[in-house]
Amino acid sequence: MTSTTDTYTNALVIGSGMGGMTIAALLARDGVKPTVLEAAHVPGGCSSSFKRKGYIFESGATTLIGFDPNQPLHRLESLLDITIPREKISPGMSVHINGKTCIRYEDRDAWIQEASSVFGNAEGQATFWKTAFEVADTVWKVSARNTHFPPQKVSDLFRMAINNSPFDVPVLRHAFVSVGEMMQRHGVDTLEFRRFIDEQLMITAQAGADEVPFLFGAAGITYTNYGNYYVPGGLLEMIRTIQGYIENQGGTLKTKSRVTRITREEGGLFRVETHSGDVFKSPLVYANLPVWNMKDLTEGPMQDYFSAQSARYDKAWGAFTMGVVTTDTYPDDMTLHHQIHLDEPMPFTGATSFFVSISKRGDTRRAPEGYRAMNVSTHTATRPWFDLNGGYDQVKKASEAFILQAMRNKLPGFSQAALEVSFGSTPVTWQNWVYRKEGRVGGIPQQMSRSLLDWSPAVTPFEGLFLCGDTVYPGQGIPGVTLSGINVYYTSEKQRKKLQTN
Ligand SMILES: Cc1cc2nc3c(=O)[nH]c(=O)nc-3n(C[C@H](O)[C@H](O)[C@H](O)COP(=O)(O)OP(=O)(O)OC[C@H]3O[C@@H](n4cnc5c(N)ncnc54)[C@H](O)[C@@H]3O)c2cc1C
Repeated sequence: MTSTTDTYTNALVIGSGMGGMTIAALLARDGVKPTVLEAAHVPGGCSSSFKRKGYIFESGATTLIGFDPNQPLHRLESLLDITIPREKISPGMSVHINGKTCIRYEDRDAWIQEASSVFGNAEGQATFWKTAFEVADTVWKVSARNTHFPPQKVSDLFRMAINNSPFDVPVLRHAFVSVGEMMQRHGVDTLEFRRFIDEQLMITAQAGADEVPFLFGAAGITYTNYGNYYVPGGLLEMIRTIQGYIENQGGTLKTKSRVTRITREEGGLFRVETHSGDVFKSPLVYANLPVWNMKDLTEGPMQDYFSAQSARYDKAWGAFTMGVVTTDTYPDDMTLHHQIHLDEPMPFTGATSFFVSISKRGDTRRAPEGYRAMNVSTHTATRPWFDLNGGYDQVKKASEAFILQAMRNKLPGFSQAALEVSFGSTPVTWQNWVYRKEGRVGGIPQQMSRSLLDWSPAVTPFEGLFLCGDTVYPGQGIPGVTLSGINVYYTSEKQRKKLQTN
């Protein structure tokens, strides 16, 4: 315990992931002057960057979309009148599958042609992808119109009736059909195409084709057919731009401030304590934390509520990730993002693919000329890593070696490169890094077993307490959590006005 202060603030945001930064910036725009408390020494959480051995690696996320019309980052930039530094990349990704490379062209016709030549059945591929584009475009459009989704009150339902066009209603039928069923209907459900779709959905919806409703899956599988971007210097630059905005409007971001307790005082103010003994009091708290973390920070009825929510939404993946630096021996026309399908599942994690993102050639902030810095990630269950005890280091090393060997075998240019740096991170590392319970990252899988309206709510039963981030609607990904931040800004508006005039 180093110091003790007791500070009143108009609004407190706990966590500076992209969800928290979005709500903080929107509050700052309204003159609210929020305080953001971040446990780590840099902001950004899973969409940040860190320096190691002189190179800059991304903390988690590497691909970036959301700047097309109707998409959340486009809306955030317009609302704040800022520009997030970025460069367009096209095509967005390559998928290495059964000895073939499939390029995910942004242009929709070029992509259908590529999918047809890799997977066959040109007619089925064309109708499948055209339906997916149509549904995804509508989903983005409808998500921009419905700031109060999922509806929690009768007034939210009225708002939805006013804001939506009857022509968009038919899209809802896709909530009741899985991506796998749509593949069957279009005659494209071959083993190879199914594997391709399963792996693409794992990185965008956290579940496979039979589990993900087409309504959400369509947006996931067409991710590369919208504008894809690269942030020079790393994603922390995106966060720093938003931080600059918040601070210019009088808000504050405090790093190394881990919240340990959230309680409510008589009179209604929230009392928020940090690990260093600081105390903040505020009528408004926006927690940019996974719902599972909330039950450990609260007590009494708040804890009961978050315990029930955690039990209800208790499925989530973790990540095994690596930072790698090599000399630059990669083809000039190589895409920056690669999904690599494995010939055999990865030992221990059971993963059947992994994802590699490479710093842009010439981005000398991340790696000097002649070198490239890479992030590698794959899904893993979290609990087994915490139960390894004495075997932990050995399993971690074996996992790193397995991935490096697969990169030598499958990533063009990698086997000719000299390896300068490589290190792995497990869910244990992730828990220490972004303080997410059990190192669960990436949000709650989108599954058929959950209804369209079944989300952990952003508006809690406790007046003035709200959630945002990847465990509330619409879930994972930078665009998803940005949308959660925008939506909680609107859904909390009435309570905010009431509590701030009291
Ligand atoms: C390996 C990996 C790869 C990914 N790849 C992509 C991708 O390519 N593209 C994409 O769009 N998305 C990707 N994602 C998903 C995306 O990064 C996340 O869904 C999103 O960034 C989560 O944002 P968030 O605002 O919900 O929370 P987080 O980013 O988790 O932020 C929460 C913040 O709260 C802080 N915090 C936690 N507890 C406390 C506390 N008690 N007190 C104070 N602060 C606290 C944390 O330190 C953290 O900074 C990836 C995720 C991972 C893990």
